[in-house]
Amino acid sequence: MRETALTLDQLRDRFSETNPPYTAHEAAVEADRCLYCFDAPCIRACPTGIDVPTFIRKIATGNVTGAATTILESNLIGHSCGRVCPVDELCVGSCVLGAEHRPIAIGRLQRYATDALYQSGHMPFETAPEGSKRVAVVGAGPAGLSCAGELAKRGIGATVFEKQELPGGLSTFGIVVLREPIRVSLEEVEFIRRLGAEIRTGVQVGQDVTAAELLSSYDAVFLAAGTGSVPDLGIPGEDLDGVTEALSFIAETKLAEKDGIERLLDLPVGKRVIVIGAGNTAIDAATVARRLGAESVTIAYRRGDSDMPAYDFEVAFVRNEGVDFQFLAQPVEVLGEGGRVSGLRCLRMELGDVGADGRRSATPVQGSEFVLPCDQVIKAIGQSKLEPLFQAFGVDTERGYARVDEALRTSNPKVFAGGDCVRLSGHALTVTAAQDGKIAAKAIATALGVVPAEGELPTGVSRSGAGRASKQHSGAFQPLRSAPHAVAKGGHDG
Ligand code: SF4
Repeated sequence: MRETALTLDQLRDRFSETNPPYTAHEAAVEADRCLYCFDAPCIRACPTGIDVPTFIRKIATGNVTGAATTILESNLIGHSCGRVCPVDELCVGSCVLGAEHRPIAIGRLQRYATDALYQSGHMPFETAPEGSKRVAVVGAGPAGLSCAGELAKRGIGATVFEKQELPGGLSTFGIVVLREPIRVSLEEVEFIRRLGAEIRTGVQVGQDVTAAELLSSYDAVFLAAGTGSVPDLGIPGEDLDGVTEALSFIAETKLAEKDGIERLLDLPVGKRVIVIGAGNTAIDAATVARRLGAESVTIAYRRGDSDMPAYDFEVAFVRNEGVDFQFLAQPVEVLGEGGRVSGLRCLRMELGDVGADGRRSATPVQGSEFVLPCDQVIKAIGQSKLEPLFQAFGVDTERGYARVDEALRTSNPKVFAGGDCVRLSGHALTVTAAQDGKIAAKAIATALGVVPAEGELPTGVSRSGAGRASKQHSGAFQPLRSAPHAVAKGGHDG
């Protein structure tokens, strides 16, 4: 491992947002192509139900602030989502122009609108005066911020407890700068604060404040703590100098954007780097290593090409960066010389039948050991679960995730949960976390007897009238769901 040999200008160039923003002219031309469809499929494809044709029409007519307001009415995390949403799988993928014409660049238009709003400093919402109800939100990632903002809009006092010194969760620390600069995440946090939510950072629930204190001091609790730290590989040699954890590696590059690019001069990177895992975090860590000047970066994954959790466009991006892949490679030992990493011993895997989890089994091939020479190993194999936190709040779990019903209520009627900590299967997206925050805020407001906002139906009541509200108000615990908003690919686990 060594410090980068790149100059500050090279680092600045390599660690800035990839896609340039639209100019006003470009945005107007793109918006003019929209057909403003009736019953638009792009609205249905958005997990937060953003009224896409309306916001695009507002851009076309020069009402950019109005466009951003339309976006944020449905999704308070819309500033981040305009950059990080897998739009080809969601809104853009559903655009009627996609079959024979170029689909509308909805994500880029969304980014154009929210950028303009945040630059103007305009606050488009009037919040209700704060009433007597108070809610504790655990975690200041997208789910927690979305919930806190929606509660604040209803006049419910929301206090967010965040263990990190900076709020924003993965948007602040875990998504590579090329896709989302830290500035965007922090602007979003500031917006939620301006809506009236209190955000306390550097406070770990369970350590600095107990679950019992929150349960007794607040009318409800929303758990949006994400997932835990990256677990150990559980193989010999992982204590060697040169074994790094992906999220903290990426976080260094995010903080460099805020604290000064000079910070990257001291960030050690190997000449030959192996990243273990194949989720979006693995892709981002490999990108960072390559852009810091690693001569070779290889992603080692125990399954096959088509099993990778990362999105295809992200995989294509990282291949273009010069990153290689070693599929069907199960790490069994980190090798070292003089206390430093010198290689990764792997076993070749063989794929078998599809198991209960819908994936083909992977079994080691006897006598197939091989060594990948390297001087840095980056772990990106997913995150551990938060069982102790859930136990402290009296929340039932399933395979380490909080069990919730459709209103995101847990087995403790006073506690709701959303975001990555309830996502038992499928993968985590910023936009689904934002929607969880919205659903939970609505359910909490209903549970606390706060009158729904104008035009808003009580939680659980569909516009067709086939509501679930009576069940939810009965006090009986409703059937739990196991995979809210599950999607096929993506996510930040390995
Ligand atoms: Fe516009 Fe495409 Fe949505 Fe139709 S589907 S409203 S053309 S973005």
